[in-house]
Amino acid sequence: MSSSSSFSTVTVLGAGNLGAQIAFRAAYFGYAVTSYDIDDAALAAAAGRFDAIAEKYATDVADATQEKLAAARANITQTADLQAAVAKADLVIEAVPENLELKKSIYEKIGAAAPAHTVFLTNSSSLPPSAMAESTGRPDKFMAFHFANDIHRISVVEVMPTPSTSQETYDAVAAFAPTMGMHPILLHKEQPGYIINTLLIPWLDAAAHLWVNGVADVATVDSTAAMITGSPKFSPFRVYDTVGFGVAYAISSQSPDPVMVKFAEVLKERFIDQGKLGVETHEGFYHYGEDGQPTGLTEAAKKPVE
Ligand code: NAD
Repeated sequence: MSSSSSFSTVTVLGAGNLGAQIAFRAAYFGYAVTSYDIDDAALAAAAGRFDAIAEKYATDVADATQEKLAAARANITQTADLQAAVAKADLVIEAVPENLELKKSIYEKIGAAAPAHTVFLTNSSSLPPSAMAESTGRPDKFMAFHFANDIHRISVVEVMPTPSTSQETYDAVAAFAPTMGMHPILLHKEQPGYIINTLLIPWLDAAAHLWVNGVADVATVDSTAAMITGSPKFSPFRVYDTVGFGVAYAISSQSPDPVMVKFAEVLKERFIDQGKLGVETHEGFYHYGEDGQPTGLTEAAKKPVE
């Protein structure tokens, strides 16, 4: 399908949280998708993920009829054979664990097994794609294609070249994004954090500083941000709840900034140790109803940091 793209067959490597969503998205938009993972147990887990993703589409995506969802599922072929997975692929999207040596070793293997025309894309969040480029054996046909979690709701993808990516590859990948229902965010050069996190993380850090340093309380910071952004949804402590405290803690606790380390400690003591992780557990800085909407600040969020 997808006449405006130069790619017809798509292989997704890794069928975990992101890989399963990416495979399903391409299949939903009519691509023949091969989904690779390491063994039978991983394939079974991925099959369960596809079913759960289909349920989310049924609830959240306006045009997702049962027929369309069944067709999407039928467009996905699963395999644990890496060579076979890439043998007929026009495009490979890699979403294996965030480990440089692991990714490089996969690129060496698929570089030898895939046809010469096949383009490789990495969904890596934090590893510089240029560090993997040579291991592909085709650095001109390699770049980053970075999705956000919850693809069916946040349908944007960051399109980022390395210094070795050819213009032809870049243009073809940028044109491919809308054919799988994704709005491309175009970067002209490599940037840690892409555009979204380059904008978002300093803003989230600033909010944590204001609270931890006792300058303002959570309610004041969020209501001020909501006035600036025009939406309470785009206020920092609500964004922390949406991102989830697992991720927020992992990043903050490793920060060289002592204020962010203190923020991580507060997150752990007041929330994480109580099983409160943000929207996904219905409680973080805010309480959330069954519909995912906030119903008010929690006591832990109202308490100043000492
Ligand atoms: P995950 O742990 O949920 O899934 C990884 C999958 O890769 C698992 O199914 C695992 O079985 C499989 N795997 C393990 N070893 C493998 C191997 N040698 N070959 C192929 N598959 C292997 O991880 P994830 O959250 O889906 O992240 C995958 C990639 O996507 C990472 O690079 C991450 O930075 C990126 N990413 C994640 C998010 C997110 O919100 N989770 C968002 C954007 C990008």
